[in-house]
Amino acid sequence: MGFPVACQLWRLVLLALLLAPVQALAQSVAVAWVEAPEPDKDIEDIRALPESQWRPAAGNETLSFGFSDSSFWLRVEAPAEPFNRLLEIGYPLLDDVQVYWFVEGKQVERHVTGDHRVFSSRPIYHRNFVFLVPSNTEPSTAYVRVRSEGSVQIPVRVISSADFLAVEQLTYGWQALFLGIMIAMALYNLFIFVIVRHLAYLWYVLTVIASALVLLNFNGLVFQWLWPDLPIINRYFTAPAISANMFFAVMFTLSFLAVRRYSPVAHRLLQLILLTSIGCFIYSLFGSYQSATALISVVAAVATPLTWLIGLAVWYRGQVLAGFYVVAWTPLLLGHLVMAISKIGLVPTTNLTEIAPQIGVAVEVILLSFALAYRINLERQRRIRAQEHTLDVQLKANQTLEARVQARTEELEQANEQLRAVSITDGLTRVANRRRFDEKLEAEWNRALRQGHPLSLVLLDIDYFKRVNDDYGHLAGDDCLVNVARVCAEEIQRSGDLLARYGGEEFSVLLPATPEAGAVSVAERLRRAVAETPVHIDDQADPVNISVSAGVATIIPTPGSRPSDLIARADEALYAAKHAGRNRVMVFRDSGAATVPGL
Ligand code: GH3
Ligand code: MG
Ligand code: MG
Repeated sequence: MGFPVACQLWRLVLLALLLAPVQALAQSVAVAWVEAPEPDKDIEDIRALPESQWRPAAGNETLSFGFSDSSFWLRVEAPAEPFNRLLEIGYPLLDDVQVYWFVEGKQVERHVTGDHRVFSSRPIYHRNFVFLVPSNTEPSTAYVRVRSEGSVQIPVRVISSADFLAVEQLTYGWQALFLGIMIAMALYNLFIFVIVRHLAYLWYVLTVIASALVLLNFNGLVFQWLWPDLPIINRYFTAPAISANMFFAVMFTLSFLAVRRYSPVAHRLLQLILLTSIGCFIYSLFGSYQSATALISVVAAVATPLTWLIGLAVWYRGQVLAGFYVVAWTPLLLGHLVMAISKIGLVPTTNLTEIAPQIGVAVEVILLSFALAYRINLERQRRIRAQEHTLDVQLKANQTLEARVQARTEELEQANEQLRAVSITDGLTRVANRRRFDEKLEAEWNRALRQGHPLSLVLLDIDYFKRVNDDYGHLAGDDCLVNVARVCAEEIQRSGDLLARYGGEEFSVLLPATPEAGAVSVAERLRRAVAETPVHIDDQADPVNISVSAGVATIIPTPGSRPSDLIARADEALYAAKHAGRNRVMVFRDSGAATVPGL
């Protein structure tokens, strides 16, 4: 708590203490009382009562008769004093108050007022019932008749007008301060409710408003300020307001402490109080005023400490906010306790004991408002933790996703590679296929064109292959093809050279940057290797000899020429080799004729 706030609170306490000695200012007067159960006794009957029937009242005690239908008569004897004095009945909820002033045995004044009559029926426009003592020179006697359906309390005192005025400044100032605190707290938390939208704040605001109305009502100020000309409302205000106050306070407790989560028993007890307060509210509107007021007094006397105990239990169960709650509830209980004790007469009634409940409520309301602010902090921390957790989860999910995507990408790349390998490989012989050959020819052609290198091509065709198929079957033919491919592949070792199955039983060997002589020697090597490697065929005792014919062509590409020229030339040379008897290599010549190498 900041220093200035502490300072203000301290001043408040000082103010309250200042009010404490006010009782000492009251004049000592003789007060006696008598109860008259029959309502029709008039003032003369009362005055005619023998002295033995009058009972003296002790000095500072508030005359308190509980709930009673009787009329109570007070006799207040004010001696002559050389200054103006006032007679004050300090409980403004009395229904019917009549004052008869007698000076020297003669009635000089009569006032009929009470909270069942319009506010202006009071001779002095004050929240309490205040009457001017009629004489300063002669002893004055007041006969005060009080009847009330509510609790009959008659705090009576005679005080000098000057002292009354001085004290009034302080007490009225305190009432205004109290009202200010309540309005500020209600408004502030209403704004918070509008922004935060948590019901605890709304219940708090309603509790503050109801508490303020209840306490100001007990001081007669609600009647004075809000409906001085409509006393009928008083009949329907006190008990319903207390019921509503209780209802809101319990709703606030349930919502603020999340009681259900911590203690189901406490939750049920509070629900019971809720139901009771609703019942009291309805009964106080339609039932008898007296029994409603009595009922609500008992219920409030039980529910208030019970709620405090529930706060304690929930605190014990680990609800941090309940600590604030209990601390806030304590001054309220103490305030009411102080007032109750003073009413019984255990401690003298002073202005301090009278405003003790208000101090309690004001402190409670301030502390609870602080607790509500603290709650926002708790919520914020919880939200931050939740956010961090969410971020963490999200991060992990992203990492997992990334890892998966990477794995899938790798798998996909592998699959693509395999697919590509399959798409450029001949299924039977496992050497490059025609498509691969076409791609490579295109690429090497362009490279040779750029670099001015020769590009050579050898076309191989198995001799009399139809016969192999015819004699040994198509499968045996396939075996031969595989064999020839393997033999050729073993001979083509230079990187950059490409052996491909050109189609059917024809193979092609592309030899980049290779002049004619080199290509011829490769072709010759291949031809010999095939011829020297007979093929073993299943079911056949003797291996089959096969041979190939080869056509060689070499071109240094020029801008005008095309790859198909190279193929056509090699094909032409191959044709010549076949024509010349097969199992031989022939080279294309620009002259148009193919020739045997070396010629
Ligand atoms: P030549 O010496 O004139 O080349 O005679 P040849 O019998 O080889 O004649 P040609 O080239 O016209 O015949 C090709 C034969 O090769 C036709 C076909 O039966 C056979 N052949 C083509 N592809 C395959 C294949 O994948 N498997 C098998 N078993 N035979 C094939
Ligand atoms: Mg052929
Ligand atoms: Mg052939």
